[in-house]
Amino acid sequence: MSARSAEPAALLWSADRLVTGRDRNVVPGGAVLTRGARIVWVGPASDVPADLARGAVRRHFDGATLLPGLIDAHTHLALDAGTSPFSTIQALDAGTVLAQMRERARAALAAGVTTVRDLGAPWRLDALLRREILDGRTPGPTVVAAGVPLTVPGGHLAVLGGETATLADAQAVIRANRDAGCRWTKIVVTGGFTSGSGGCSPYASAWDQHLLEGIVAFSHAEGMPVAAHAHGTAGIQAAAAAGADSIEHATWMCADGFDVDALTLADLARRGTAVCTSLNSAAPRAAGRLPWSERARQLRAMHHHRVPLAVGTDCGIPGTAHTGLPVSLPAYRALGLDPLGVIELATATTARLIGEHSTGELAPGRRADVLAVEGDPTADLEQLTRPLAVLTRGRLHHPATSDDRKKDPR
Ligand SMILES: [Zn+2]
Repeated sequence: MSARSAEPAALLWSADRLVTGRDRNVVPGGAVLTRGARIVWVGPASDVPADLARGAVRRHFDGATLLPGLIDAHTHLALDAGTSPFSTIQALDAGTVLAQMRERARAALAAGVTTVRDLGAPWRLDALLRREILDGRTPGPTVVAAGVPLTVPGGHLAVLGGETATLADAQAVIRANRDAGCRWTKIVVTGGFTSGSGGCSPYASAWDQHLLEGIVAFSHAEGMPVAAHAHGTAGIQAAAAAGADSIEHATWMCADGFDVDALTLADLARRGTAVCTSLNSAAPRAAGRLPWSERARQLRAMHHHRVPLAVGTDCGIPGTAHTGLPVSLPAYRALGLDPLGVIELATATTARLIGEHSTGELAPGRRADVLAVEGDPTADLEQLTRPLAVLTRGRLHHPATSDDRKKDPR
């Protein structure tokens, strides 16, 4: 691994079309000019201002499309996506986990993911990785870190080190996260399905509501929005009432099935509380606890009620690879979106919902996070699985010529 690399060169990329990520804007023969870590100009290649483009390294992607790098709003770079990631990680030291996280970050970037919100890592390794990537020491997406997640004693994700019984406990974890460079607080409101939940129900909140409200208020006062893991309807209601900024999973389960409650949907929409559904590529084939017919119905209900939806994979949990975001995106067609609508959801919309306003769009002033893919993904989302080149903060990554594809992303 080299030391901090020099400022990225100015680049002028052009292709058959360019998708800006907003307002259904597709520029035929579009080009993007980057200088350092920023985009300085976007438009038809024929109109590039000569003075701005002077000295830029030019590259045309024939038969291809340029679009903003993809955003995964729910990752776990510390988890290995194997059959029992939580027991695996308990047997490893911090240095080993961090080394694995670097490889997974590199693999996600090679798949076209230029920003991730990482929702739970032991020892706040996600914040360490963020720093390495920002410094240019490690290639990877921009990591929006949540550090150690808060959970009740013995609760879901307790193995990551954030058990809290009192407001003072929670404040200490949040402060330590913030001081390490984390930008979000993750709180586990209900039990889960992928690790021991200490008897906590996946349906209802495990917290005293007054304490939950106090924790969210403290996090907000520290400038950190709150992502709340909540499966069941009662847990979603508790998290929203406490003021959480995003609900993770929202599977609307209750003891005897599902309860996609219209009043709760209206409450989420009114508050602007985002839902990150954490769909992976297997979701459309799911038949067990959460069959796809039910999940698709939930997605449509949330979308219909104007609940803001963010794209995320929950990668790192069993069977969910860190490269899986592009493969998961066709599932979002269930919202009634066309491919361009899904691309905007996975770029500008999700970036905004996780507070990353400087990316997600190809526009002057934004971060130079750019993806080039074969063909036309606005006609066929499958093309997103064929990246030709990725820029992150103006640094070039060649998926096809790197070793990343050959490596097991786990
Ligand atoms: Zn998760």
